[in-house]
Amino acid sequence: MSDYILVLDEGTTSTRAMLFAGDGVFVASAQKELTQHYPQSGWVEHDAAEIWDKTLACALEVISKAGGAACIAAIGITNQRETVVAWDKTTGEPLTRAIVWQDRRTEPFCSELRGGGYEADVQRRTGLLLDPYFSGTKMRWMLDNVPEVKAAAEKGTLAFGTIESWLMFKLTGGAHVSDASNASRTLLLELGGEQFDQGLCDLFGVPLAALPQVSDMSGAMGETAEGLFGRQIPITGLAGDQQSATIGQACLTPGETKATYGTGAFVLTNQGKTIPHSENRLLGTVLSQIGGERTYAIEGSVFVAGSLVQWLRDSLGIVEVASQTEELARSIPDSGGVTIVPALAGLGAPHWRADARGVITGLSFASGKAELARAALEAMAHQTYDLAQAFAAHGTAWGTLRIDGGMAANDWMAQDLANVLNLPVERPGFVETTALGAAMLAAAGAGLYPSLASAAQKMRGKLARFEPDMDESVRQARLERWREALAVA
Ligand code: ADP
Repeated sequence: MSDYILVLDEGTTSTRAMLFAGDGVFVASAQKELTQHYPQSGWVEHDAAEIWDKTLACALEVISKAGGAACIAAIGITNQRETVVAWDKTTGEPLTRAIVWQDRRTEPFCSELRGGGYEADVQRRTGLLLDPYFSGTKMRWMLDNVPEVKAAAEKGTLAFGTIESWLMFKLTGGAHVSDASNASRTLLLELGGEQFDQGLCDLFGVPLAALPQVSDMSGAMGETAEGLFGRQIPITGLAGDQQSATIGQACLTPGETKATYGTGAFVLTNQGKTIPHSENRLLGTVLSQIGGERTYAIEGSVFVAGSLVQWLRDSLGIVEVASQTEELARSIPDSGGVTIVPALAGLGAPHWRADARGVITGLSFASGKAELARAALEAMAHQTYDLAQAFAAHGTAWGTLRIDGGMAANDWMAQDLANVLNLPVERPGFVETTALGAAMLAAAGAGLYPSLASAAQKMRGKLARFEPDMDESVRQARLERWREALAVA
């Protein structure tokens, strides 16, 4: 009986295969760590062949747990976005290491383009900023610096793609496609454009012929090659990780918002069919494309979230495990005036100050582990409050905030978010919303449900809810302390 959905969840640190039942219940998974290569300061690379080998191994393991390929109705893929793979279409082999989203090597090229006055136009067309984070300048770097990539471009055999594109090529045995959500992170797709844009390719110096076809995110995008799994399984869901999590949280109506608290924090608000144009350096991105119809989201990312808790654990030794921050925060009535601005890697949205550095204010002899742990968790609500203000200035006031990610397991933080934002906060019982979103796209795409909305409704599961419950004067005092600390960061 073929009624399971197989999701390939391609993270930055690991690759996973996850099995879901048609009603969204998680059944089984397999996971393998990915090697991180750091050849120079600021450079981060992956081996695309390793990604494929480990993906295939995890998929085979989970398919066997499911009872064979005949039990899998469809495959969904979700992935770390912006990471670029270059391969040869004729050999199917990578030409160089993949450049990972975190890699900063193209900053000089971005700065040159910013200096040339291109940013406003690029932002208007793509929704993105001229930052090394996005894929386009990484492709250009490979063409300029890797002779094999340049030679393949000259021969006409070069293929560029993000991770889902690379996996589609390997899984199908030769399709060269990229889904619209991943394509919208390259700087080479206009938000309203059906396919990659010649003018943008010219600006970034990337040959259009090396780019994939832009595809839907739910529907018949391809099927696995004969001989790979014993049955040709349809691939019916594709999405970049943050878009997938937004769908997994069922944010399918304009205004609905999710925030993922992992290493960093990513907030996306559904914008419906309107192409977003941010005045305050939030990003505009494709949220979904089904049957050629797009919806959009605006996105704000905060660089430091769970990594602040990791820092308390690994560098300061204040906690042994991340979850201890919760009991420490609960052990005192307030942080005793201690405030942390977690600008350890600069400040992201909405401040965008790469040069800012972390500060701790309000220390006294009474400040101890509990005050620091509590101040660290409080900083999540403060940073999210600033994003809420920026989103509101964009005309997108949040109703309820739907949270997920490793840090969202912290009940104290979830309640504090509700209090400081003065909004209800919802958390699903199953927090792997990224994989769940890809399962929803794949289930709807395979026709198990008549629409994505009905897949989301049936597959979403139970929710915990946190209602705001904080005295307004306390809330204002907290925000005032935060603003003062931010001014010195
Ligand atoms: P990523 O997907 O970015 O690797 P995860 O979603 O797995 O991250 O979240 C892990 C992060 O969340 C870690 O940085 C960890 O410090 C933090 N974290 C995990 N559990 C808790 C908790 N109960 N309280 C506070 N922080 C937590």
